[in-house]
Formats: sequence, C-alpha cells, structure tokens
Amino acid sequence: MAKYNGPVCRLCRREGAKLYIKGDRCYTNKCAFDRRGYAPGEHGQGRKKVSEYGIQLREKQKARRIYGILETQFRNYFEKAERQKGVTGENLLRLLERRLDNVIYRMGYSASRTEARQLVRHGHFTVNGRKVNIPSFLVKVGDVIEVREKSRENNRVKELADQAARKTSPAWLEVSADQFTGKVVAIPSREEIDIPIEEHLIVELYSR
Ligand code: SF4
Repeated sequence: MAKYNGPVCRLCRREGAKLYIKGDRCYTNKCAFDRRGYAPGEHGQGRKKVSEYGIQLREKQKARRIYGILETQFRNYFEKAERQKGVTGENLLRLLERRLDNVIYRMGYSASRTEARQLVRHGHFTVNGRKVNIPSFLVKVGDVIEVREKSRENNRVKELADQAARKTSPAWLEVSADQFTGKVVAIPSREEIDIPIEEHLIVELYSR
C-alpha cells in the first residue's frame, strides 16, 4: 500500500476518533475532528450499518494510523506478535510502543509521532551512544536514548526539550530532559498504553 499523502485530519474523521497526528494543533479549537466529528465525503453524515468485518478493519486502520505505519509493516508486527508468548494483541501494542519514534514522542521530545519520525530520520538521537536514524528501531529495557550533542543547539530540539521537562512521561520511561536523555526501564504493560484501541478486533481480523 502506498504512503498516504493526503490531509491527515481526514484520517481522524474517517476513524471516528482523535488520533493526535498533528501534534500541538490537536489540542486547540482548530482540530478538524472537534469541529466536524463525522466521516469525510458526501455521505459522511449518513447512517451506516457496519459489518463485523468493517468494525475489525477500522480498528486495525486506526492503530496503523496512530503509529503511522504502512500495511505490510503492520502485518509484519502482527506476525512477530503472534510468535511471541502471551496475548497476541497486547504483544502487538507493546511492539508498536517500542518503536524509537514512539518512544521519542512518549518521552516528550516531539509534539507528535510524525514529528518524532522526522527528528529520528534527521539523526538527532542516539541509542546507547550510537546514532540511530531508523524510526522503526525497537528499543529494549536498559536502552538509553539521547539527543545528539550537536543537535542540542537546534532551536526546535531545544524548545522540545523544554516542553519535555514539563510533561509527564509514562512509568516505563525515565526522562531527564535537562540532560537530554531518557532510559527504557521496563516494557510497557497494557494498562500503560493509553491508546483507544481494542486490539482483540485486530487479532480477529487477521485470523479470518
Ligand atoms: Fe486529528 Fe489532530 Fe487533526 Fe484533530 S487536529 S483531526 S486530532 S490530526
């Protein structure tokens, strides 16, 4: 499936939920979903009967869009989650949470996952002292993520680090914004993953 380059607010309206893709704008009264919380298009406000398959498909699309992942890659995560011990749906969410771009976002060093991905691609971060510019890089317990020395003078990075100091990060991440670092201290439990997804629907979809 090709990369989606259209208006991202449309995705929130399609999924019927705020996906917080645009960062700061999502928290203002400019949010398109708050203003027009119905599906886009000519028939967006019409009544629709949704099949079981449709419900499962929408849930998968919602998760994919929250994390900004293409179909093939998402499917690969699912297959990896299936091979792990435990509950497949929860394994899937844990894998998605461990992506470096998500971790940067969770630590507060970006306003959205989209921005985090761009910052990672531009090489602003290291993991355990080594530059990593792959947004899908999976962190593990004990990994130390740091803003690169020369990126600390970048105005946007400085502004984000200031914001990170004021944000509360999840318990599985230990953030020292004044040091421009963060450490993964645990793998998140399902309760710590605050995304509005019913992962069992995704498992049901892929098990058809
Ligand atoms: Fe979604 Fe954010 Fe756009 Fe609102 S502003 S519709 S939450 S991407």
